Amino acid sequence: MSERIYLDNAATTKLDPPVGCLISPYKFGNPSSLYREGREAKGLIDNARRLVAEKLFCDPHDIIFTSGGTESDNLAIRGVVFSYIKRHPDSFKPHIISSTIEHKAVLNTLKDLKELNLIDYDLVPVDEYGFVDQEAYIDAFNSRTILASIMMANNEVGTIQDIDSLSRIAHEKGVLFHTDAVQAFCKMEIDLLKLKHVDFLSISGHKINGIKGAGALYVRYYAKPSISPIITGGGQEGGLRSGTENVLAIEALGYASMIVRDKHLSKLRDMVIDDILREIPGTYLNGPKTNRLPDNINIGFSNITGEEVVMRLDAKGIAVSAGSACNSGELSGSHVLLAMGRTKQESLNCVRITIPDWTPAEDLVRLVLEIKSIVNNRDM
Ligand code: PLP
Repeated sequence: MSERIYLDNAATTKLDPPVGCLISPYKFGNPSSLYREGREAKGLIDNARRLVAEKLFCDPHDIIFTSGGTESDNLAIRGVVFSYIKRHPDSFKPHIISSTIEHKAVLNTLKDLKELNLIDYDLVPVDEYGFVDQEAYIDAFNSRTILASIMMANNEVGTIQDIDSLSRIAHEKGVLFHTDAVQAFCKMEIDLLKLKHVDFLSISGHKINGIKGAGALYVRYYAKPSISPIITGGGQEGGLRSGTENVLAIEALGYASMIVRDKHLSKLRDMVIDDILREIPGTYLNGPKTNRLPDNINIGFSNITGEEVVMRLDAKGIAVSAGSACNSGELSGSHVLLAMGRTKQESLNCVRITIPDWTPAEDLVRLVLEIKSIVNNRDM
């Protein structure tokens, strides 16, 4: 049995050892330099671009490396707004559609653009399982809508949206479509040959056993005229993301996207869910039973806060989360769970468990036993 049990893969992941062996920390060249060291560094980036594109079934030219998921979301949203305003300086105020359960990288970007008086936006509600209300989504489009941004899979409850249908609807309305696939990438198939209506897609390296500091935005070739850079400078990444590239982290992102993933994760997930719900009275599952990320468990308790469970498990050597890492310390409760209809107290009484690939089943058996003992001792 491993000493410390890490079960918070949605927050971040361990560097995969083979990825760590493959990356080249001593290749120091600037990828923009013409001489050998530069060309070598550029080769490493181009190789990573090819590997990421292979995983997404897309053209490598459509992959723009960024510093991570937050920047990719910002580039997609701000980039589309800036491009629109540049091309139509005297036009109406653009409108964006998103959902109530997006990551703060999307929600706070929309809020900021609204505060700058550059856009209006509507957040479409979700049902009790976190699925976007399709009727409300369709109703949200108006003649000023330029972009819809709906996450592929939720970081707190693992709900997987029907991106094929949502992106198709956006295109039928003549609107660009972005999806935040930071949690979905490498945990489920993403085939951009099939998802023909997705124009922009965000991913992040540190969520897939790479290194922090690299992510990517997929930009479909015909959507390129509709997006402007948000970081300007030397014109790297086809002019869409200036700045000397983080070669090492980009290399790691490329190799990490090729890792063979654990196909049995969803079985372990279901085993833990069933055991907790059966063994610990008053517990319930947040999010759906199907169409859920294979590594995600989100459990609600009747009599103990998520924070207390997290701290007590930590003392026993187990790392889980009381929600999204970005929201930890958020005493108002999780915006995702509130949007799904939970009360404030219910949204504070939850833990998120996200299982790394190849976690031994006995670690998860220990997790259930420890949670049971924490909850039972609390009752006494
Ligand atoms: N989007 C989602 C759904 C996430 O879960 C996260 C990180 O938790 C991000 C965006 C931000 O990614 P990064 O940490 O790479 O900036």
